[in-house]
Amino acid sequence: MIDEIGRWLLPNASQIPHPGSTSFITTGATTIGALATLAGSVASPQRIGATAFNHLEELSLHWLAALFELPAEFQGVYSSGGSTANLVALGGARQAALERRGMDPARDGLRRCCRLYTTALTHHTIQRAAAVLGMGRSAVVPIEHDEQGCMRPDALRRQLRADAHSGDVPVAVIANAGTTSTGAIDPLRAIGEIARAHGVWFHVDGAYGLPGILDPRVKPLYDGLALADSVVVDPHKWLGAPVGIGATFVRDRRILNRAFTQEHADYLEGSCSIDDVQHSMESLGIPYADFGVELSAPARGAVVWALLREIGVQGLRERVCRHNSMARRVAERARAHPRLQLMQEPTLSICCFRYVSDVPLDLDALNQGIHRELLRNGRNMPSTARIAGALAIRPCFIGARTTEAHADALVDEVIEVGDRLLAEQGFRAFEPSSGAVRLAVPTPGGCA
Ligand SMILES: *Cc1c(COP(=O)(O)O)cnc(C)c1O
Repeated sequence: MIDEIGRWLLPNASQIPHPGSTSFITTGATTIGALATLAGSVASPQRIGATAFNHLEELSLHWLAALFELPAEFQGVYSSGGSTANLVALGGARQAALERRGMDPARDGLRRCCRLYTTALTHHTIQRAAAVLGMGRSAVVPIEHDEQGCMRPDALRRQLRADAHSGDVPVAVIANAGTTSTGAIDPLRAIGEIARAHGVWFHVDGAYGLPGILDPRVKPLYDGLALADSVVVDPHKWLGAPVGIGATFVRDRRILNRAFTQEHADYLEGSCSIDDVQHSMESLGIPYADFGVELSAPARGAVVWALLREIGVQGLRERVCRHNSMARRVAERARAHPRLQLMQEPTLSICCFRYVSDVPLDLDALNQGIHRELLRNGRNMPSTARIAGALAIRPCFIGARTTEAHADALVDEVIEVGDRLLAEQGFRAFEPSSGAVRLAVPTPGGCA
């Protein structure tokens, strides 16, 4: 069996762990994280019990909160990733908003229309969380953003004021600490103050970008994070943990307990308080299953503990700074090269740029072609994103094994492939007939 895994599975697995892969916001796990995952899956099925694993669940959540400078009272809970972490946070927000109006949505369901406020650049899992929580995707009210992708606080204030007498319940304002497309960070202090002034829960989605706070060059952009009522981060992104680890932080986990309680269960009766335990199974330990939507779940804390122990705060800071520098290096080269265009100044470790030419052609199709060829060559594998409607090549540098040489090789290859595609097929295929740009989409049968 082990032989078959080696012979068939691994050679046909994902290219994502390749150090030249800079696609999406996902990367190969580092060794210690993979080992700790294996250890937990064998030695600690479930995160329950007065075990070392249950202890590390809490310790590592404290470490993450301290590392990212969350207020001291913040408490966390792990889940499978940013999607679930956002769902859990917004479940808390929904509970808080409706309790304040004398209702209990966890017990009685939703009896009022709700609204959530965020920009269109927010991760689409927020919409799904709104749907799952019974508020509906249409509860998400889009707030205007600027060209950098940052929410306009004045637009938020206007919308909250306009909605104040609508009868709907304003459940949360959701800010991004690193959007998925470009890594933009919303003005957290301004947004947080407006949310507070209106008595609305302030949620910060830092699934990707929260570790950016470790880079002194961008740290000022996190000013106002302390105003948050909930924050999420994905250790399986920039921290290099194996996939399956997100974290939600709130000021007081009791709100999550009320939002996600399973009520009483007969089979859990008789387990005693954690102070009085002689055997690991006499206590469930801290009841994480009561703070979210998972009951059976792996012990994820040991993984986060192991990877933080391995590289330490300074090691992680250096990694984050290196990745942010790589995005800046790509930006610099895109600015300097006549056939590259920087689509947006990087904030964190994402840089959106594209190949351009002054012959009139469909640049989206050309860049799509370049991207496809990069994937097929298998050396430098970014993903793409649309920036204000235009297709960009989008490397996101988070891989622990990805170095500046990979950033340079990616830019070199984009230029080389772009030049070749132009020379080979671009010109004739893209040539406009009468000033109007004709797209390079082959028509069936090749009719004129
Ligand atoms: C990746 C991401 C998510 C979703 O996280 P998963 O771990 O993929 O579920 C949510 N929000 C942001 C900002 C992200 O970058």
